[in-house]
Amino acid sequence: MLIYIKKKPALLLLSCLFILGFSIGAYRLTLHPNMENWKQKKIIITEAITDQKILALTFDDGPHPANTPLVLDLLQKHQSQATFFVLGQYAEKYPEIIKRMAKEGHEIGNHSFSHPDFNRESRFSIQEEIKKTNQIVYNLTGTKPRFFRPPGGYLSYEMVDLVVEEKMIIGYWSYIQDPKDWQGKKAEDIAHYIIKHARPGQIIILHDGGPNGKETALSLDIFIPELKQQGYRFVTLTQLVNAEKSNKNL
Ligand SMILES: [Zn+2]
Repeated sequence: MLIYIKKKPALLLLSCLFILGFSIGAYRLTLHPNMENWKQKKIIITEAITDQKILALTFDDGPHPANTPLVLDLLQKHQSQATFFVLGQYAEKYPEIIKRMAKEGHEIGNHSFSHPDFNRESRFSIQEEIKKTNQIVYNLTGTKPRFFRPPGGYLSYEMVDLVVEEKMIIGYWSYIQDPKDWQGKKAEDIAHYIIKHARPGQIIILHDGGPNGKETALSLDIFIPELKQQGYRFVTLTQLVNAEKSNKNL
């Protein structure tokens, strides 16, 4: 009896720990309890539902003075399009790179002005981060960004409302296509990860800004030719969204 009494709280504790662990796991997987609802309403996109072998490459945290031009050179070499989620502060600093992106048919998304931790920012300052960057990109290219990608993937009801107010869509990424290139991986490893996990309609997240941007850029020279050989094409986020729409019309 004594053993039984002692065991019960232990079991209860273990069950609680299990449930807690599972909840954290599930939360990390969905990132926000309302994620599925936002995805259904197309307020957030993580992929396109399509049979077409198309992929959207996205690059965060730039433009970077050396690595972004290298990415652009390699996209040009392999005749592929991409979407750049730029930071307003660097767009201001390197306007020629932004103009080149637009001229070469790439899409420019908004990744905030200064990449702050949105958990610590007020509603007003989040709004300013979004608006200011939209204005900078508009002044340089004549086009207002259609997609916003929150720094660090941060999501909240308030932030999503602000993005909707700006008539923008949150351009997330396909969970399986996050090669974590920024963690100091070599170009070969980044490329092999992307090739291994490629499926039609995915959004791939990479980083041209940050300390590992050169390896990220060089990975393009490996995975683009390989995936093109498999029949894939690399399109902008707008083209990816349109491909899903045209699917539905059929
Ligand atoms: Zn970022």
